[in-house]
Amino acid sequence: MRRRRAHEEEEEGGAVRRTKRRRTNLVEMMLKPDDRRRKRRRTATATPAAGTDYFDALPDDLVLSVLSKLSSSASSPSDLISVALTCKRLNELGLQPQVLARASAKALAIRAKNWSESAHRFLKRCSDADNLEASYILGMIRFYCLEKRGSGAALMARAAMGSHAGALYALAIIQFNGSGGAKGDKDLRAGVALCARAAALGHVDALRELGHCLQDGYGVRRNVAEGRRFLVQANARELAAVLTATACCPLLSDFGWSVPPAEPHPANRFLAEWSAAGAGRRAEAGGMGLRMCSHAGCGRSETRRHEFRRCSVCGAVNYCSRACQALHWKLVHKADCTPMDRWLLDAAPAPAPEPAAPPAPAAPAADMAMG
Ligand SMILES: [Zn+2]
Ligand SMILES: [Zn+2]
Repeated sequence: MRRRRAHEEEEEGGAVRRTKRRRTNLVEMMLKPDDRRRKRRRTATATPAAGTDYFDALPDDLVLSVLSKLSSSASSPSDLISVALTCKRLNELGLQPQVLARASAKALAIRAKNWSESAHRFLKRCSDADNLEASYILGMIRFYCLEKRGSGAALMARAAMGSHAGALYALAIIQFNGSGGAKGDKDLRAGVALCARAAALGHVDALRELGHCLQDGYGVRRNVAEGRRFLVQANARELAAVLTATACCPLLSDFGWSVPPAEPHPANRFLAEWSAAGAGRRAEAGGMGLRMCSHAGCGRSETRRHEFRRCSVCGAVNYCSRACQALHWKLVHKADCTPMDRWLLDAAPAPAPEPAAPPAPAAPAADMAMG
């Protein structure tokens, strides 16, 4: 009885504190303004049932441990939101650094259409709690979508220092292209070094990129056999990923089998959605001449004109990297690539033969002029 009275007093004292803190709770951070008003009404009308203080008697440590587990296994941001909506206590404990630090990539997979200051703050808090995945995702969004190149690259570097393979690969692409800077800022050797670190961690795109760099002698001494070894590794990992994701599988991609495209990472999906939404606006504004990587699972866009490489046969598609070009060739472009320019120039009746392998990675026109 004494304990119950003490608990009620604590509740009264806590009510004021909690109202003040309401603006920073998890639900507020994850929802758009319209949703927030709707949710607030719903929680305001709910009346707690009498005698349900068993949960309140649980120590915070235990609740935090359960929330951390949930956070690491959540399959979407809504998993976290629905728990946070249950009560104020879960809502506040859900924002503790030890919970945010363990949030899974799927729990952080915010869609571009839901982007808001609150979503930005949520990712920042996760990143501040040393969640490498959050640092990587927010870094990609800042660098490619919000055009805050410095802070975006710094966040990716933070994740890369914690051996986040995706962040290492993303920085490699930035070095290869000199993204965010001038053409002279390209650093091929640094790109290869970062790519090799990501590949050592088993990152499939990095293995593929490194394989093609070695085969082409791009940023590294040419070694066809070693390059092929990396491509085999990329394919083996790709196969293993599909096998674990689905029961059936007729695949293996670089060597003739067809592999269904892997689900894009939440960061890439965000970039693609963001660019697709912005493409209309750019077209209306007359266009800035910046192109997107043609591989749909990538989502990167150019940070300056003519940054990306073009298909050397048709010139109609653009890629941020050799890995994107090779994958897009297998999945889509092999069937579409037509050397239209050559046909028109030659005006000859005989069509050019179909290329059997991905066309030699094409440097942008300006690059080729430089030799
Ligand atoms: Zn790409
Ligand atoms: Zn082509």
